[in-house]
Amino acid sequence: MKADYLVVGAGASGMAFTDALTDHADVRVAVVDRRFGVGGHWLDDYPFVRLHQASAFYGVASTLLGGGRVQDHGPETGLQERATEPEICAYFARVADRLLETGKVDLFPNCEYLGERQFVSCVSGERFEVGPGCRVVDARYLAPDIPATTPAPFEVADGARVLPVNDLARLTDAPSQYVIVGSGKTATDACVWLLARGVDSGAIVWVRPRDPWMFNRAVVQPDPAVFIGMVADVMAAAETATSPEDLFLRLEDAGIMLRIDPSVTPTMAKTPTLATWELDKLRTIEHVVRLGHVRRVEPGRVVLDRGEVTTARDALVVHCAASGLKYSPLVPIWAPAAITLQPIRTGFPCFGAALAGYVEATREDDAEKNRLCPPTPYSNTLTEWAWMNVLGARAAASFNSAPDVKAWANGVTLNPARIPPRYDRPAALDDALGRLHAHAAGGIAKLEQLGGMPAAA
Ligand SMILES: Cc1cc2nc3c(=O)[nH]c(=O)nc-3n(C[C@H](O)[C@H](O)[C@H](O)COP(=O)(O)OP(=O)(O)OC[C@H]3O[C@@H](n4cnc5c(N)ncnc54)[C@H](O)[C@@H]3O)c2cc1C
Repeated sequence: MKADYLVVGAGASGMAFTDALTDHADVRVAVVDRRFGVGGHWLDDYPFVRLHQASAFYGVASTLLGGGRVQDHGPETGLQERATEPEICAYFARVADRLLETGKVDLFPNCEYLGERQFVSCVSGERFEVGPGCRVVDARYLAPDIPATTPAPFEVADGARVLPVNDLARLTDAPSQYVIVGSGKTATDACVWLLARGVDSGAIVWVRPRDPWMFNRAVVQPDPAVFIGMVADVMAAAETATSPEDLFLRLEDAGIMLRIDPSVTPTMAKTPTLATWELDKLRTIEHVVRLGHVRRVEPGRVVLDRGEVTTARDALVVHCAASGLKYSPLVPIWAPAAITLQPIRTGFPCFGAALAGYVEATREDDAEKNRLCPPTPYSNTLTEWAWMNVLGARAAASFNSAPDVKAWANGVTLNPARIPPRYDRPAALDDALGRLHAHAAGGIAKLEQLGGMPAAA
């Protein structure tokens, strides 16, 4: 079949790339995914998941998710709305319709990519091959592992009840105790959901091998004064920090980072966002097990790396222990074998994929595209967080050096640090920009040290 691009993966990354590419270039794109539709992991996530940050930061550049609505009731009044799983899936289905209507895009759901420019339909068995001139786009390089599709990483003895987090919402008989296994965002979502459904906090045991640092959602908002103000505060804190641990304590004092237990120093820094009302709920769970990873679950007993805990015989163990974010090695986004989509500005995968699509549409030379858009990893530890922020800042300086890219990036809501055109600048933004200017060089220099990086040329 004829195509200029073969995009492997119709998740957020593949859709954001295809949307930006086809909006700026007259090309033919085939998008394949082994799933039954577009939207990637959201098609299989637990039903009570939402985006952890504002909808405006997520999706594709052409189509704002969530309409930029500010919540006017509930515990997050004043913060921008966050789409639910069904809203995200419906959004990507609408985006797919839009792409098909352009006449530039063909979608191939239920198709497995085999490598060597070939894919096969898992339903009809039909095989397809694109020509040697077609560029392959790897939009699955950082596809997250989720509990629904990743087996629990521990042994389960006969008679023990273990379910992936997805099945919590389909329970028909309540156990006397829940054992939540996992330290990350999925585990916090499960705990908050159980408490909201009326489960007593004393009936929850939380196995948390590591404690996480999380961003305060209130400072990660699509408002330039708020977002740039937060970045300025990170730089100011970094400038005087003496270690990664000290940096995070300073960020906590500045109202940027949250931790669940103030008596424990977290070692995990994937840093999803969390609201303070969620933090209050999580802090009501007192039975926290910090004995490493779960090795085996038996009726009435959970065996861990460094000990064991007794549980109710009917305890329901909830698997929230898939790794989520991927930590694959950084590779140049543009290479002869494939365009490998990765974040560019720190931590915003949809913006990175859309930016790669725009740059691909507007430039010929791969070396120039790689110079403009170096990749940025996800972080897992505090040191990696410092490193990630340096690479993200360098990448932002790089793509903003091209006037057309800067103008495009300022026009898309996916870019958290944008200052929109014709924006009525409040005094708070001038203040934030002034503080950023004062602390950026010192902050980045210190983050380089804390992240164990050689200084930038
Ligand atoms: C529960 C959860 C919540 C999250 N919330 C946020 C959030 O609020 N904000 C944020 O920025 N990030 C969030 N993330 C992070 C995540 O990295 C982003 O959602 C990211 O955009 C994932 O999109 P993706 O396209 O990289 O991966 P996926 O959505 O996994 O898409 C990759 C696709 O590739 C397909 N594929 C893989 N191999 C093949 C093959 N051989 N042949 C055909 N198809 C193949 C897969 O079927 C899959 O559909 C979240 C992650 C999780 C797990």
